[in-house]
Amino acid sequence: MSGEIPTDESSQEETATASAGSSAASEASDASADATTTEGTAGAEPFTYDGGSIAPGESANIRYGISETYLGDPVRIPVTIINGERPGPTVFLSAAAHGDELNGIEVVREVAHDWDHSKLHGTLVCLPVMNVPGFLAQERYLPIYDRDLNRSFPGRQGSTSARRMAHRIFTNFIEPCDVGVDFHTSTRGRTNMLHVRANMNDETVRRVAHAFSSNVIIGGEGPSGTLRREATEAGVPTITVEMGEAHRFQRRLIDRALTGVASVLAEFGCHRDSAVHWPGWRVVIDSDDEKTWLRADAGGIVDMKHGRGALVEDGEIICTITNPFKEEDDIVEVAAPFTGLIVGVLENPVVYPGNPLCHLVGLKHETRVALERERGTERSRSELR
Ligand SMILES: [Zn+2]
Repeated sequence: MSGEIPTDESSQEETATASAGSSAASEASDASADATTTEGTAGAEPFTYDGGSIAPGESANIRYGISETYLGDPVRIPVTIINGERPGPTVFLSAAAHGDELNGIEVVREVAHDWDHSKLHGTLVCLPVMNVPGFLAQERYLPIYDRDLNRSFPGRQGSTSARRMAHRIFTNFIEPCDVGVDFHTSTRGRTNMLHVRANMNDETVRRVAHAFSSNVIIGGEGPSGTLRREATEAGVPTITVEMGEAHRFQRRLIDRALTGVASVLAEFGCHRDSAVHWPGWRVVIDSDDEKTWLRADAGGIVDMKHGRGALVEDGEIICTITNPFKEEDDIVEVAAPFTGLIVGVLENPVVYPGNPLCHLVGLKHETRVALERERGTERSRSELR
């Protein structure tokens, strides 16, 4: 089997170490390989990509070349493939398409390296850092003319640097999958409540979105060139998970997202010992009438009255914008246009006119009742945030 694992010798660009990341997983698959070689792997197939193949019951940590630096050195992304002994769907988990969005990196790493996958049905493709140049620079975009990797999918050979990178990732690690979850955070200077973005008109996307069990799902196919839209159009139903802010590990959000991943793996039969999680209440926003970005109409310094996940009443003051002298005549009050939930909000309290202040989604009465019931009984837990 080791002959199937690419090494430095077998490829100049890619390196892989079989099971190197998790000795527990390695032992588990080694131990069960003896017992289940004939029956357990029946129907399970190797995961193949350009440069290698990972057999059922094996896992591999790969550094996969997607580009080259100015020095001609390879730009490699880390990829972990965990191929279960039993047949099942192939699921990808990806993060840091925007290089400074870190929460998802930890989600993907913990799933790949801390979880027991000895009973896995199917295959996990874990891509913790897709935008390696952006990650190294701690920037959102590829630091090559500020290209957005997450507007460059599915990519194209012979095109721009960003599209070539996207193409390498997409053809090798996205297209072979059955479903996917792509993790993001808010842009620097803002923060998001954990929520899912998904094209709810696609039946399987809807299934993934529901299974992820976030309280808020925002519908829509997403902009052209985003991983979730292009993967979905290529037959790999994919959702985006937005969580927290850039440049941070936010433990509570990471734990909440891990619950979502476990629930998705349960829903699709990958982990049969775990159950699909129900979040308690859910709001699905499918029309533009039910959500709005409130934007500043004045430049100034913002006093935000609410944090992410807060419930605000129609007409309630969300924030004020003042000048440096706090002059009474120049105070601008920004009120909620409808009763809703603050899903995204700025953290860096300065705005030009037109800058976003907060992302508000409407709540129906029943949802609001469920939310208030949860917050009344579980105020300290605040799983929402
Ligand atoms: Zn992002």
